[in-house]
Amino acid sequence: MNGNHPETPGRQMPACNPLAWMEEELADLARRVQERKLRQSETARADEVETAGAYTRRDGKLLMNLASNNYLGLAGDKRIHQAMIQALRGARPSPAAGAGASRLITGNYAAYTRLEQDIAAWKEREAALVYASGYMANTGTIAALVGRGDAVFSDRLNHASIVDGIVLSRAGHYRYRHNDTGHLRQLLERHQDARRKLIITDAVFSMDGDTAPLRELLRLRDEFGAMLMVDEAHSGGIYGRQGEGLCHALGIHRQVDVLMGTFSKAFGVYGAYVCGSSTLIRYLTNKSRTLIYSTGLPPAVIAGIQEALNIVRTEGWRRTRVLEAARSLRSRLRAAGLDVGEGDSPILPVIAGSNATALAFGARLEEAGILAGTIRPPTVPAGSARLRLSLTALHTEAQLDEACRQIIRNGRELGVIQ
Ligand code: PMP
Repeated sequence: MNGNHPETPGRQMPACNPLAWMEEELADLARRVQERKLRQSETARADEVETAGAYTRRDGKLLMNLASNNYLGLAGDKRIHQAMIQALRGARPSPAAGAGASRLITGNYAAYTRLEQDIAAWKEREAALVYASGYMANTGTIAALVGRGDAVFSDRLNHASIVDGIVLSRAGHYRYRHNDTGHLRQLLERHQDARRKLIITDAVFSMDGDTAPLRELLRLRDEFGAMLMVDEAHSGGIYGRQGEGLCHALGIHRQVDVLMGTFSKAFGVYGAYVCGSSTLIRYLTNKSRTLIYSTGLPPAVIAGIQEALNIVRTEGWRRTRVLEAARSLRSRLRAAGLDVGEGDSPILPVIAGSNATALAFGARLEEAGILAGTIRPPTVPAGSARLRLSLTALHTEAQLDEACRQIIRNGRELGVIQ
């Protein structure tokens, strides 16, 4: 390439230096951080942390971990580790670290099929399909179900992978105010001529810990001839007699068109699934590009998920414990005057307001030996920067008492509690 534009001989194209513009953007981000006098952690940090249990280590310091999605404490479970090691060591004809190809080529194997059958049975649906991650399940499913001329109605607080799936699909994207079924109805009325209509929601919202009005969404689905897709990423393992999710707990799991969930949170492993009718699963197997054009999960991961599924189904004490711990912590923080949202899940937002206050709150807790997520806009709406506390079944009463004391003390000192 000589840099000349083909149709305007002699004209010099501007040089493209990707490293230079990336450096420039990073420098600009750092400058803005400086201007706002916020800690350097405004830029994304990728510390080395060990995340398996109630405690974690960050920068060499042991901290009570209130910042993971390991709700049932399974990431550190030796039985799951053993199943993964066994799958690797005992594989025939020879151990394989990776699947080697897309499942539609040569990356499929018997353990995959067994897992999908077990998931379908657990969820009491006809069929299930395992994806490499929740992000890929959402993007690949949404983009397969809808396209140009269709309309997707999505809760404003839905996860980024849902938003990205809608953008990828090229369907019309209509966001309704959080959990506001009146607003959703208006949008459905306005766009009722769309070819296909898809209503989509998180079951438990990842930053607020509250739940979607699923029964009402089903009614609107029926009234407007739409499809309903529910993301059970944060409710799987937690609700339902065998941890099936919120749709099960409400007894509506057979009516929802598309049920999606992850193995990366309560299951403590990695990966995700979509389940529903066998037609849906056959359709996705042939149409979902994140499934077709990406390598299958490594066999050891499938074995880990399989073992985690057995534990999730049978060890009900884990969900009872984490829900009870969340209920108790939530009511104590609320009684002290903190805004902890509306939910009853293991995710508790502690609304701080400004970014600076949320950052100071998080830093003080870390100083006191407690790690909480510090979440700021644009992940959450402006002015609602917060701590995101997430509990595990492994936290003891004594640990949570200490966390509660520290949160209330620092909340008072920072003026979050008036
Ligand atoms: N959906 C929701 C609601 C989530 O919170 C997340 C993860 N934060 C995902 C999907 C993506 O799941 P994964 O991490 O397995 O890609």
